[in-house]
Amino acid sequence: MEEPVIYYGSCLCGGITYTLTGEPEQVVACYCSHCQKNAGSKYQIFAKYPSSSIDIEDPSDSMRYYTITKGTESGLPKEKHFCGNCGCTLWTVPWKHGGDIKLVRTSLIENGLAHFKPKAEIHKGQWTSDAL
Ligand SMILES: [Zn+2]
Ligand SMILES: [Zn+2]
Repeated sequence: MEEPVIYYGSCLCGGITYTLTGEPEQVVACYCSHCQKNAGSKYQIFAKYPSSSIDIEDPSDSMRYYTITKGTESGLPKEKHFCGNCGCTLWTVPWKHGGDIKLVRTSLIENGLAHFKPKAEIHKGQWTSDAL
């Protein structure tokens, strides 16, 4: 059997590193107001991975999170996980998936923006019913 592909990612300061095993379930460009604020840009691109596919190294215990409770599409909170040292967002964990799905920022993955091309755009211009 072929070994699954491994992708490497890290925050801005390198204090938190992680590996992703295999290809993501989905790659999406999200234009929602939360993503726009977080990215400081028009959209954020993320790759959808189950938590079981992510191995995290955080030797300095730098991981922090902020829970977004207002204005989420599902009405359920979502957690924005970030490095407490450099402030870099690593991923979002929407509770609507039971906390088991991480929406990983592709810009933090080695060669991520080149490899992980968005297959869909969500919240472009308006809220839709099935988006994150
Ligand atoms: Zn960092
Ligand atoms: Zn969004």
